[in-house]
Amino acid sequence: SSSMAFSLCAFCSSSERIDPLFFDHSRRVGELIGSEGMELVYGGASCGLMGEVARYARRGGARVTGIIPEKLLPKSIAPQEVDELIITKDMASRKAEMERRADGFLVLPGGFGTLEEALEVMTLKQLGYHSKPIVFLNIRNFFSPLLDLFEGFYRERFAKEEYRRLYAVFTDSESLFTYLKSYVPEVLPQKW
Ligand code: AMP
Repeated sequence: SSSMAFSLCAFCSSSERIDPLFFDHSRRVGELIGSEGMELVYGGASCGLMGEVARYARRGGARVTGIIPEKLLPKSIAPQEVDELIITKDMASRKAEMERRADGFLVLPGGFGTLEEALEVMTLKQLGYHSKPIVFLNIRNFFSPLLDLFEGFYRERFAKEEYRRLYAVFTDSESLFTYLKSYVPEVLPQKW
């Protein structure tokens, strides 16, 4: 694929024990990454939704880059699912590498690791370090409690209401990809 391809970074669960519905959606996301001619950047593991997105993206013809810290490598290596595996010294440099290579960020259901990655790219965007799209796939309202918490930030003025535009929320992957393809950076206020 061409080096001009949109590179989508996916943050998502490493768990195998979740509702199969989440795997169904992740498979569809992987297929769309392929059919839309995008590339995938992700955490480099074969487990959970990470592996599912990567396998289906690759099967659909997408170039897949896994980025993993050396400590997780023995547990996570998935050479058959990636075109390129980048091994970083630690979690911080891994995240920096994921962010550097991505043109946009997709958040699928996940736990602490996923949430941490999502909040980092949101925080960086809020501070003006990047202006890349951040999208959530809100499968059967998984993210609704988090989005409600964010609403509390605006209501109680912990965050400016305009920052609701830092991210976009979708319930189906087709409209999510339509948004990504036509993305124009939001006009956001200066935080400071
Ligand atoms: P979690 O949501 O806690 O399952 O963590 C998933 C996120 O953290 C992924 O997007 C990965 O970048 C990272 N992560 C967690 N566990 C692993 C693992 N075993 N191998 C690679 N990355 C992982």
